[in-house]
Amino acid sequence: MPNALVIGNWKMWGSREQAKALVSSVAGLNQSGVEWGVCPPFPYLQIAIDQLGCDRVGAQTVSADQDVPHTGDVSAEMLADLGLRWVIVGHSERRADRCETDDVVRAQVERALSQGLVPIVCVGETLDQRNAGEAEAVVIAQLDAALRGLASNTDLVVAYEPVWAIGTGVVATPEQAQAMHAVVRQRVKDLGLSGDILLLYGGSVKPDNAEGLFALADVDGALVGGASIDAQAFLAIVEAAAAAKAE
Ligand code: PEP
Repeated sequence: MPNALVIGNWKMWGSREQAKALVSSVAGLNQSGVEWGVCPPFPYLQIAIDQLGCDRVGAQTVSADQDVPHTGDVSAEMLADLGLRWVIVGHSERRADRCETDDVVRAQVERALSQGLVPIVCVGETLDQRNAGEAEAVVIAQLDAALRGLASNTDLVVAYEPVWAIGTGVVATPEQAQAMHAVVRQRVKDLGLSGDILLLYGGSVKPDNAEGLFALADVDGALVGGASIDAQAFLAIVEAAAAAKAE
């Protein structure tokens, strides 16, 4: 098990040429103790696989269904057929804009696991929920829905991504991040899963705030959006993870 994991979520970014340039800029990255990977849009997965290898590539979502004629959907079988390692599920943009409810996220987790993919399960509260004092309850409910009843040795990753921090430039304070990560760590254990599951923080992670986040006891890495499409920034974040976790 690595000490840290940094995943780049490219979202709906790029062209073929940009994808090729970005993966070739990060291809040589190798920091001891830190695992890293990228989640490009579907059309650019093969570009990333060709240059980085399957073990460094994930998808951004997966269908909750199997064997149904759903136009535009991509099944867990297809992602496994490509040899992908990870798949992001429950990202707040999809929960909010693509009606991906807790039940859908749970089905996606199960579909991913059935095909040997490692789900990166995103949870997080909105600003209104935080201001109403509901942040922990929201995150716990999302964890329960996604993870309850899974086998204790299930291979998965959890990403705490406060919705108010995603793409806003407003990063959670170290106190906020550590407090919620401790809650997530405890809940994952209470659900009978391994306490060693890697917990990523996501939401406006940049080179200048990464080290402080990675120094936190319960932050094992990051899910990085905007900064992951800037090769230098992504490299710096992975280096920050290596520096923090080496201490
Ligand atoms: C994300 O979308 O998962 C994310 C963390 O985005 P950003 O880093 O841009 O806030």
